[in-house]
Amino acid sequence: MMGPPGSGKGTQAERIAGSQQLAHISTGDMLRAAMAAGTPLGLQVKEVVERGDLVPDELMLALVDERLQQDDATGGFLLDGFPRTVAQAEGLAKVLEGQGVPLGCVVLLSVPDDVLVERAMARGRTDDSEATIRHRLGVYLEQTEPVLGWYEGKVPVYEVDGVGEIDEITERIQSVLDDAD
Ligand code: ADP
Repeated sequence: MMGPPGSGKGTQAERIAGSQQLAHISTGDMLRAAMAAGTPLGLQVKEVVERGDLVPDELMLALVDERLQQDDATGGFLLDGFPRTVAQAEGLAKVLEGQGVPLGCVVLLSVPDDVLVERAMARGRTDDSEATIRHRLGVYLEQTEPVLGWYEGKVPVYEVDGVGEIDEITERIQSVLDDAD
């Protein structure tokens, strides 16, 4: 599941993973948990995350590689917030190839920039000051949007309108996935 910061992909990913019985793998949640627990990883990434920059690709790939090997992921998984760079997408492809697991599809939640800023301000997370939000949007445009182009022609990329009621958006994603089956 891909989408700009504040697109609601975390909320939707949780719902879709629940209904499709997939392990919900959110790299943002994993990093925040590590930061809250003060683990070596958490301490290492804290500054970068709070600045709204991306954690280095090698670190993220190692984290996801390890996570994908846990029992619950063997029955299928939904990645939320990863890959966020073309290098991560390439690394993930290698990891999955090694495991003999194909990536099913990409769901892109699209939301206009002004709505994103508005939502993020209302959310009030500690990494959500207005300057940080704008910075994260810039990082998304520069580093993450090219990932969509990278997937084009490799796996189906479904764009879903991310503006509306939460339930309504979940239904949109669900119906796109049902049609894909
Ligand atoms: P959002 O859904 O608001 O975009 P996330 O919860 O996915 O935010 O991620 C929060 C922060 O964690 C990001 O701004 C970034 O600093 C870090 N992060 C999460 N996933 C990745 C990733 N795949 N690569 C690098 N950094 C990441």
